[in-house]
Amino acid sequence: MSFTTLGLSPQILDAIKTEGYSEPSPIQEKSIPIVLEGKDLMAAAQTGTGKTAGFTLPILERLSNGKSPSSNHIRTLILTPTRELAAQVHESVKTYGQNLPISSSVVFGGVGIGPQMKKLRKGIDILVATPGRLLDLHSQNAVHFDELEVLVLDEADRMLDMGFIHDIKRIIKLLPKKRQTLMFSATFSEDIRRLAKGLVYQPIEISVTPRNTTVEAIKHWICPVDKSSKTALLIHLINKGEWQQVLVFSRTKHGANRIAKNLDKKGINSTAIHGNKSQGARTRALSEFKSGKVRVLVATDIAARGIDIDQLPHVINFDLPSVPEDYVHRIGRTGRAGREGEAISLVSADESKQLFDIERLIQKQLERQLEEGFWPKHDVPKSPELQPVKSKRPKKTDNTKTHKKNSIKKNSSDPRPKNNQRRRDDQKKLNKPKKKFYWGKNK
Ligand code: AMP
Repeated sequence: MSFTTLGLSPQILDAIKTEGYSEPSPIQEKSIPIVLEGKDLMAAAQTGTGKTAGFTLPILERLSNGKSPSSNHIRTLILTPTRELAAQVHESVKTYGQNLPISSSVVFGGVGIGPQMKKLRKGIDILVATPGRLLDLHSQNAVHFDELEVLVLDEADRMLDMGFIHDIKRIIKLLPKKRQTLMFSATFSEDIRRLAKGLVYQPIEISVTPRNTTVEAIKHWICPVDKSSKTALLIHLINKGEWQQVLVFSRTKHGANRIAKNLDKKGINSTAIHGNKSQGARTRALSEFKSGKVRVLVATDIAARGIDIDQLPHVINFDLPSVPEDYVHRIGRTGRAGREGEAISLVSADESKQLFDIERLIQKQLERQLEEGFWPKHDVPKSPELQPVKSKRPKKTDNTKTHKKNSIKKNSSDPRPKNNQRRRDDQKKLNKPKKKFYWGKNK
């Protein structure tokens, strides 16, 4: 299929040509006609599939036929969970709309509000925003929504994870009921569907990858290793492969700092990016990574959202995420737009629960590849048979409940073994018969 058959104007087609896209990606092929028709949409699409152009191109087309906004009014609102993603989506809006008289702007927290208010004064066709700053601007009378025609909720699943649900609900109440709403999410969990109920009207659902499966072009496997050897293994892999651009994931901010520091000490230029860093530091880190000045970017899950780097060849999970869906997000950073990529997870024995949760979610047992010289003393248990389960993110409140229910009171007469003991027994069973290595390739 070609872009010319999708009903986009010559100005937009020219911009697409300048970008060098020869044909629409599957999500674009499906979403563009639906958005052009003015229908509501729920699209399951991961980052890297070309989803941004999937909504931006038809929105530009629709807006170019209407009236300009009055002062302090906007015609389209694109909500994103992070500043990085907001900035990146705005770049796409500017790129694809370069030949059109469509105005756009981006607003997010962590920077001065004054210049953002000034830009809004003239009225803006497309505003890309993070929820908190948008509400601030609204409370200061800087933005009005009566002329809003289109709302886009980008990476809706992440919005929920980051606790934006109340902000989003507040924003929705401020918007006109008659509008077009487009929801994009990597996965459509029950929580997302619940949110969607009050948001979209008779939406058309599309999906470009089956629910929660990982992008085809990505080769991903795990490398079992003892926790204490992870840093040495990471350094070894980077040096052995002579990798020049590596994105490393860490579960914690503290861990991200430590990894970057340890790599730096070994002469591998690295920087960490996470929520405790200022917006300036994050933007600088990202541009240095993109330009090749920094070889390794160590990121937490939240900070990594919105990182878009073409041909990012290597992703390393220094540790596994506790939410299995994040694994799909993490490895989706490589193999972007159909290109090949590889993602390696360094997994220690204490992470077997996270590993099995991920394997259950993606319905695939991850291949184990041992690295010469880094064979673990503590084996990662063999994966159990895969049982399909309904994936659900753990809710904070649920955790406490589960914990209470499962906990055995001190001095209780309950004869059952304590959880830890039971886990150790289960692991022993799983490890039997005790062969040192059972991973095909490395026998
Ligand atoms: P996204 O999923 O929106 O984050 O896009 C991922 C990457 O795909 C971006 O770097 C886009 O520039 C690129 N891209 C989007 N549409 C196309 C297309 N039709 N052909 C080739 N690359 C594309």
